[in-house]
Amino acid sequence: MTTEQTPVSLAQAYIDGLANSEIRFQHCTACGHAQTFAHDACQHCGAESLVWKTSSGRGRIYAATIVARAPSDAFRALAPYTLVVVEMQEGARIMGHAVPGVRINDDVVASFFVHQGQTLIRFEK
Ligand SMILES: [Zn+2]
Repeated sequence: MTTEQTPVSLAQAYIDGLANSEIRFQHCTACGHAQTFAHDACQHCGAESLVWKTSSGRGRIYAATIVARAPSDAFRALAPYTLVVVEMQEGARIMGHAVPGVRINDDVVASFFVHQGQTLIRFEK
């Protein structure tokens, strides 16, 4: 264990959350900004007063695309699949898989599935 704050260790809280079927995000106690890509400072106001919170799992589709050709062997078995960016109720935007047929502005809730040992998010209506 190291106390050094590298990007890898910062992301670990997020990865650990997924393994527990939780979407965790960083909340800035200075301005209220929420971010899911772990940084050591707020991307909105620059404050370093960040705390991890767990999302309700509910949000709204911000962008959606269908991936017909998987970028790697690990995902080839899943293709074609739907990838979305969801704006969570807490304000953080997060990318994940989604059930087929979702559209922009649909209300969705996160579920989780394990693919080749990695927990991934799948949004459902
Ligand atoms: Zn901030």
